[in-house]
Amino acid sequence: MSSITQQTVLDQLSKVRGPDLEGDIVSLNMVSGVHISGSDVMFSITVPAERARELEPLRAAAETAVKDLSGVGKVMAVLTGERKAGSAPASPPPPSPQQQRMAPPQQPAAPTKTGVPGVKSIIAVASGKGGVGKSTTSVNLALALSRLGKSVGLLDADIYGPSMPRMLGLFGKPTAEGRTLDPMEKFGLKVMSIGFLVEEETPMIWRGPMVISALTQMLREVAWGELDILVVDMPPGTGDAQLTMAQQVPLAGAVIVSTPQDIALIDARKGLNMFKRVEVPILGLIENMSTFICPSCGHRSDIFGHGGAREEAERLATPFLGEIPLHMDIRTNSDRGTPVVDSMPDGPHATAYLDIARKVVAQLESASTAAPKIVME
Ligand code: ADP
Repeated sequence: MSSITQQTVLDQLSKVRGPDLEGDIVSLNMVSGVHISGSDVMFSITVPAERARELEPLRAAAETAVKDLSGVGKVMAVLTGERKAGSAPASPPPPSPQQQRMAPPQQPAAPTKTGVPGVKSIIAVASGKGGVGKSTTSVNLALALSRLGKSVGLLDADIYGPSMPRMLGLFGKPTAEGRTLDPMEKFGLKVMSIGFLVEEETPMIWRGPMVISALTQMLREVAWGELDILVVDMPPGTGDAQLTMAQQVPLAGAVIVSTPQDIALIDARKGLNMFKRVEVPILGLIENMSTFICPSCGHRSDIFGHGGAREEAERLATPFLGEIPLHMDIRTNSDRGTPVVDSMPDGPHATAYLDIARKVVAQLESASTAAPKIVME
């Protein structure tokens, strides 16, 4: 039984001096979101956005201080930027001690889009809502891209419900060298997920800015090495956190996953518009859980309707990447950590994912050879 409590962590952090050597970071109200999972500790340090880079040593010092506590395993400290007074909305009332510990920091730093060294293209797999098969699609698309000879990484940015450990049957903790985490590896993919750092069942109570900060670390402080494509499994939905992520991650493009029902398509459209707003190219739409093929008799039926996403793609002048049927083999394999592209490599589902992967590669290649755009500011 671990003896680490929020108070132990806060006590230890109160030994870390604030930015200009004035006071300590706890009494300066810079620490929030202390989250303990077993022996792992995560917390956030709010700093003025424009000083985030300069205050990196402060973050590292806070992380080291907590690591020094006996019984502590992994520690993740994230810096979140607070906007200068005047550029942010009116200040909220001062937080209660409880809020102070658990509340997320205010605003993230202004979006910047620096590339990730060694990574050629980052693509987002997104959906307007949960449960449409976005993670299943991310895994199988990543595997299909890898079968096409690409070196592929998979970043599980679905920080509220990380599913990659389960879907890939990949458990354990990533090793770290200094501040940089080594990605985990399975089926030839390099993988990073918050699920490796906290238990899958741990409820994630973080809100926007902290999520973004954690994602930024998983993106930039991981030794990805040379990758042709990094597939990012985005959190579902089109809220502020997703929008900011779409803005901050240097995305080469986005793939939107939808089921064929009208109601799902309305959400998919929102997802599409979100990426358009931040000028991320849409690589295309995938219809998941399309036709149902009865596993025993092979009969096809369109449980959720069929072709909705293809029509929607046409209407929105967006490429249609393909259909993945609703099939038990996809579900059981995805849920037991043996994704279908790897476990049934010659089957019809693997073929469908490979077709989609080829289209994604073609889209990326045509985008990279397209004439540069002139942007009027
Ligand atoms: P999301 O990431 O959108 O929340 P998941 O990928 O976790 O969705 O999928 C939700 C559930 O649906 C999982 O149990 C998964 O195995 C199943 N699933 C996803 N795609 C298919 C499919 N094409 N056929 C059958 N089951 C599927």
